[in-house]
Amino acid sequence: MKNTAEQFGINVFNDKKMQERLPKATYKALRKTIENGEALDLSVANVVANAMKDWAVEMGCTHYTHWFQPMTGVTAEKHDSFICPNGDGQIIMEFSGKELIKGEPDASSFPSGGIRATFEARGYTTWDPTSPAFIRDGTLYIPTAFCSYTGEVLDKKTPLLRSMEKLSGEACKILRLLGKDSVKRVTTTVGPEQEYFLIDKKMYDARPDLIYTGRTLFGAMAPKGQELDDHYFGSIKTRVAAYMRDLDAELWKLGVLAKTKHNEVAPSQHELAPIFTTSNIATDHNELTMEVMKKTAEKHGLVCLLHEKPFAGVNGSGKHNNWSISTDTGENLLDPGKKPEENLQFQLFLAAVVKAVDEYQDLLRITVASAGNDHRLGANEAPPAIISMYLGDDLGALVDSIIDGKPYTSHDKADMQTGVDVLPDFKKDNSDRNRTSPFAFTGNKFEFRALGSSLNIACPNYMLNTMVAEELSQFYAELKDADDLEAALKALIRKVLSEHRRIIFNGDNYSDEWVEEAEKRGLCNYKSLPEAMEHYIDKKNIDLFALNGIVSEAEMHARYEIELEHYSKLLHIEALTMVDMAKKNITPAVISFVKELADAAAVKKSVSSKVSTYAEEQLIDSLSDKLEEFVKKTDELDKAVKASGDYTDNLELAKYYRNTVFELMQELRTLGDSMETETSAEYWPYPSYGEILFGV
Ligand code: ADP
Ligand code: MG
Repeated sequence: MKNTAEQFGINVFNDKKMQERLPKATYKALRKTIENGEALDLSVANVVANAMKDWAVEMGCTHYTHWFQPMTGVTAEKHDSFICPNGDGQIIMEFSGKELIKGEPDASSFPSGGIRATFEARGYTTWDPTSPAFIRDGTLYIPTAFCSYTGEVLDKKTPLLRSMEKLSGEACKILRLLGKDSVKRVTTTVGPEQEYFLIDKKMYDARPDLIYTGRTLFGAMAPKGQELDDHYFGSIKTRVAAYMRDLDAELWKLGVLAKTKHNEVAPSQHELAPIFTTSNIATDHNELTMEVMKKTAEKHGLVCLLHEKPFAGVNGSGKHNNWSISTDTGENLLDPGKKPEENLQFQLFLAAVVKAVDEYQDLLRITVASAGNDHRLGANEAPPAIISMYLGDDLGALVDSIIDGKPYTSHDKADMQTGVDVLPDFKKDNSDRNRTSPFAFTGNKFEFRALGSSLNIACPNYMLNTMVAEELSQFYAELKDADDLEAALKALIRKVLSEHRRIIFNGDNYSDEWVEEAEKRGLCNYKSLPEAMEHYIDKKNIDLFALNGIVSEAEMHARYEIELEHYSKLLHIEALTMVDMAKKNITPAVISFVKELADAAAVKKSVSSKVSTYAEEQLIDSLSDKLEEFVKKTDELDKAVKASGDYTDNLELAKYYRNTVFELMQELRTLGDSMETETSAEYWPYPSYGEILFGV
């Protein structure tokens, strides 16, 4: 039995294996591609492909797949075997450089947002050598980018890689200006904390809403939810602990740096956080993590729910995108250091982030908008839909002192005295945490907290990278010809922070006062996807991506259509599922229960006319009224869904789903949940919230 360290990365064609298996020259050429983005020639690819195949076959693989991230929201894979006829009826296992570098999945079945006619169905996947290949279930997985025959980007990885390049280039220019000539490359790093629910498979199988939509569309609250705060960081149940152990082991084999695991706020809710790595690998690893989470659950008779709001009345699930920028010389550019007041380099990068978040707050909101996440943002939990930044006391005071031109006094880090001799004293952190902020500075990185749990983190990260790159390039233009660089730097930092001070908010983001205050400050507050998405194609946003070479104007329009269409489709499925549940199960169940009550009352009366049938009558009365409303509302919803066919414009359609269909769904749910509380559990067709949330 191998120990954990030996198991780690056992299923990854990582650097160590490349070194062992590749000729020195090939290895060096490949490293140059990985580290400096240099083009790779076919002869090198041939050698790499062969070594990869030999390793994979030794590990029991028969197939390989180009693994990519189309605009569907999930990853895609098509498996090809290594077999190749050798002429005398036998086969050999082969894999060429060409097959490694390029794949040709039929692109016509992936969303393109009308960017191509279906006759131009050809699409290409291209090997991304910066993210290592790995093995799952007898197949060699090769991370790839995906584009169309005519070169349009059809995936999420390509813009991410481009944005990383762009940010690196702009940051290096600034650093050279500041005298840091040795820096050749700057990388963005990400550590995504992933929340999820874990429920019993038997409960899941009994709920069509969970099966079709990933969330419960009906369900009255259980007597107990999260009000006792007894689940967060609580002791982990044996069955869940076994799952988590299995999950860690699986992820470690795949080279995922799974680090932290704990119970989250809601019952049955948990979290896994990895150690950060490059944005690109972190994205691939997060996609893998979500897939492995689901697969591992199956083995334990459980189901892992990654939906943002599987249960009403308790917290939904998000993802915290911890993000920073580091140089190849090992410097974290968002680390304030010991004397941030003297650290102009840090201040400049901080100013770039502040300006970016303010100017592109709409994009940050848009990138986390989804049908699922709409239940959290703008509803009563998680960060609100208003994007603002939290800097903490120390940095907040520094920014104030810069803007006001006053001296800065650092809050000396106090000693934490535990008051107990056997417990060691320690230095407190610079700032307390503000858990309500959507974009919080946490020591040497920013934590973007508004992501939904099922989101592919490529999108928020390529937006973040691009907007910060844009600001850095503007800074460079202003600074490059300065006679007195230090004076110019100070003036620029002060100007930028003053102009964008409104985005900084250190208070409680959940309060009503903040909503008012934010409106006064002119910050945007888009409550739903259609409302937010409308601004995706504002000129300023198209310019940002098109001019920086990340996504073209046509591709932006395509993405806009895809997102809106996807949103409407999800709501469509939810509405149909509700109608189906209402008609086929809930209404008949309530009718049966009412009949049972009526029968019981009749039997009682037949025994003696003096026997009270108060309970039966009350319930029959109440349920009959509600059922009438419920049946009418079901019809209304049914008709509303059918009327969606009247819309041809994707934005109009999405708004219709949000403002009409979704509202009816809420009303129908309220009626259904109210009947659930009065109907005998024996008759109610679905497992209750209590059974699901406390069933593991
Ligand atoms: P919490 O926010 O729950 O307190 P932690 O502080 O444990 O979480 O860690 C948050 C995440 O931030 C981890 O995934 C960690 O690896 C990541 N992280 C730490 N430093 C950086 C960095 N420089 N760049 C990106 N992510 C980072
Ligand atoms: Mg966090």
